[in-house]
Amino acid sequence: MWALRLPSWKSEPELVEVPVPVPGPGEVLVQVGAAGACHSDLHLMHDFEAGALPWEPPFTLGHENAGWVHTLGEGVRGLEPGQPVAVVGAWGCGQCQRCLGGYETLCARPDLAPVPGGGGGLGMDGGMAEYLLVPAARHLVPLPDGLDPVSAAPLTDAALTPYHAVRRSQHKLGPVSTAVVIGVGGLGHLAVQVLKATTAARIVAVDPRESSRDSALRGGADLAVAPGPDAVQEIRDFTGGLGADLVLDHVGSDDTLALAAAVSRSLGDLTLVGIGGGTLPVSFFSLPYETSVQTTYWGNRHELVEVLDLGARGLLTAETTLYTLHDAAQAYLDLTHGTVTGRAVVVPTDDYRA
Ligand code: NAD
Ligand code: ZN
Ligand code: ZN
Repeated sequence: MWALRLPSWKSEPELVEVPVPVPGPGEVLVQVGAAGACHSDLHLMHDFEAGALPWEPPFTLGHENAGWVHTLGEGVRGLEPGQPVAVVGAWGCGQCQRCLGGYETLCARPDLAPVPGGGGGLGMDGGMAEYLLVPAARHLVPLPDGLDPVSAAPLTDAALTPYHAVRRSQHKLGPVSTAVVIGVGGLGHLAVQVLKATTAARIVAVDPRESSRDSALRGGADLAVAPGPDAVQEIRDFTGGLGADLVLDHVGSDDTLALAAAVSRSLGDLTLVGIGGGTLPVSFFSLPYETSVQTTYWGNRHELVEVLDLGARGLLTAETTLYTLHDAAQAYLDLTHGTVTGRAVVVPTDDYRA
């Protein structure tokens, strides 16, 4: 089969032929229906030095996957070949206190996990291929009626990550509150929809791209602004001078973190999602009183069930730009150049259509 693989750090991905994996006991082979191209993959290609992460290339890219159960390994029960499924992306040990609490993203025994601190497309082979080997059936969530793999794949990361982030601040997002979404790309346009579907907060979106600001307004944002010298005042004015109870920064540069701090409110949350590598100086008087600064990482299996339910009910809809597997490298080039609408999604089956 064909697979888009990252050969080494600081390199471009390559489309190569590899054998179709054979599922061992407890494993499941999934026919990939769709694999999203995440900006994190660009960080993998361009930013990280050897040793920065607890795993190494080569591996097949694609950590945002959905498809159909193809072959069950020995002992797997409860799934049927042909069944549509979404793949939970972080593969922990499954047995430690964190994993049992649903946080395979934060597995406390990475030495017992199939890959320490990673998953398919993050240290192990991912979904930018015709088939994906999933090491345990618990990583598969059956798709509810109304969702196909192409609509479901972006929900497993681009929606799940902001969903988890918003849930962590849910108690701060009552009617008299404002949430600011900085960066309205793959994650950000779904962050707006998550806020709209699950909170009463007013929503402000920030992105230099007009198409992204339009997407935010379609998704339920009350105000969409371009970053720049006027952005802080525009946002503070919109909140009646109070500031935002939650700022989700999907970029994470020095500039966006500074904007996030400047529009934060006392008792609010400033949540860093983006891996842009910027920093925010934090001291007692640099932020409003009792503002919390935090990172957030991906989401949990039970949250994915909830996200898929919102998707099936039409409350979360990823805007997608589709590519074949043979064009998957182009998807990443387009993501680099900022020309993707919503999420770039690779559909391997499109390579074989007449
Ligand atoms: P994307 O490329 O689809 O979207 C990024 C958006 O940010 C674009 O719309 C771009 O126009 C906008 N942007 C760029 N500069 C900006 C600025 N100065 N102000 C406002 N907006 C700006 O990327 P994505 O796939 O949505 O990922 C976003 C970030 O989140 C990446 O850094 C990615 O690695 C990270 N990420 C983190 C997690 C996590 O668990 N924490 C999970 C997935 C992705
Ligand atoms: Zn991702
Ligand atoms: Zn664990």
